[in-house]
Amino acid sequence: MKTLPVVSPLAPTHLAELDPAAARAAAAALGEPAYRAGQVARHYFGRLVRDPAEMTDLPAASRERIARALLPTLLQPVRVLSCDDGATRKTLWRLHDGALVESVLMAYPDRVTACVSSQAGCGMGCPFCATGQAGLTRNLSTAEIVDQVVSLAAMADRELGRRLSHVVFMGMGEPLANYQRVVAAVRRLVAPPPDGLGLSARHITISTVGLVPAIRRLATERLPVTLALSLHAPDDDLRDELVPVNRRWRVSEVLAAAWDYTSRTGRRLSIEYAMIRDVNDQPWRADLLAELVAGRLVHVNLIPLNPTPGSRWDASPKPVEREFVRRLRAAGVATTVRDTRGREIDGACGQLAAIGGSVEAEHASVGQHTERLDR
Ligand code: SF4
Repeated sequence: MKTLPVVSPLAPTHLAELDPAAARAAAAALGEPAYRAGQVARHYFGRLVRDPAEMTDLPAASRERIARALLPTLLQPVRVLSCDDGATRKTLWRLHDGALVESVLMAYPDRVTACVSSQAGCGMGCPFCATGQAGLTRNLSTAEIVDQVVSLAAMADRELGRRLSHVVFMGMGEPLANYQRVVAAVRRLVAPPPDGLGLSARHITISTVGLVPAIRRLATERLPVTLALSLHAPDDDLRDELVPVNRRWRVSEVLAAAWDYTSRTGRRLSIEYAMIRDVNDQPWRADLLAELVAGRLVHVNLIPLNPTPGSRWDASPKPVEREFVRRLRAAGVATTVRDTRGREIDGACGQLAAIGGSVEAEHASVGQHTERLDR
C-alpha cells in the first residue's frame, strides 16, 4: 500500500460506466433520443462492435458523434503477444493518461477466459511479484475494466471463432482494493444484453490477497462469483513476508472471512499457493495447510513460480511439488497444479507492463494473477 488508490479524474465517461438510466440521460444530453443509448449498447455489449460505420441503425449523419461520445477509446493496444499456438494472447494496453495495464485471453477446449487487470500497478507489495515492485499507479475505472473484457470477447469472437465464457480478476492489481469499481464492473458483465455482457457470475473469479472487510462485504452482494484467496503460506511468520497485508489481517482472520463467503454464497473457495523453492514448499507446511482447510468447501491451486533470471526466488523442484500435492490430497483436500499459460511470452502479472514501460523486471514473478486452468 505504497500510494493512494485514486482513479484518474480525466478518465472519459463511457457507456460501460453507466447504468441504463444514466446511459439514456447521456444520450439525451447529446441532443439525441434517449433510446439511442440502448442502440449503442446493443452494438457494444450484444455485437461487440464499436465502429460507428457498423451501427447502421443510427442516423448516418450523427452515428460517428453518438458512438464517439458514448464509446470513447479507453484502451490503446501497445502490443499483443501470442503463444500456445494462438490459444493464449496477452495484450498490453495504454490508458488515456499513459498508465499501462495488461489482459490475457486464454482459450481452452471447454471455455474461453479473459484475465483482466483491476488496477494499474498494485500497492500490495508481494516481494515475488513484478507488479508489486513498482507500486500502485491508480485504480482502473469501471469502464476500463469492462472494456478489457469486451475487447477480449471481440478478439475471441473475431480471431478464434469462440465465445468468451469466463472472466478472472487476476491481472494487475488487488481487485478488492478497488472494490466499488470492480463490483460495478461485475454487475455490468453479468447484466443481460443490451445492458451488459450476460456472463454468468459463477464464471467470474475475483482474487484477493485477503482484505478481510472487503471479503465480508463481497459476501453480501448477492453476486455468486468465485473467490480466489492468494494464501501462499499457511503460517503468519512466512505470510507476513510473502504477502505483507498479512500483518494487518492474519491467516486465521482471512480464512474465517473466506469461510463466511463460502457459506453465504455456496461457492467453493479457491486457495492460490505459489510454490517457491525452499521458502514455502516444505512438507510440514503442506500438512499445516491441509489442517487449516480440510473438510471445507475448498480447492487448492498450486502455482509453479515463474522465476525471472537473476531473482532470488525460484520454482520448487517437481519432486517437492509432487510431495506437497500428495500430502494435501492424502488429507482429502482437492488439489491441482496450475497449467502455466503464456510462459514463453513472459509469464506473469506485471512483466509485460514492465517491459512496455522500459522498466527492467528484476524480480521473480508468479502468474497467480494471470493464469487459471480449473475454474
Ligand atoms: S501478487 Fe497480486 S496482490 Fe501481490 S503485488 Fe502482485 S499483483 Fe499485487
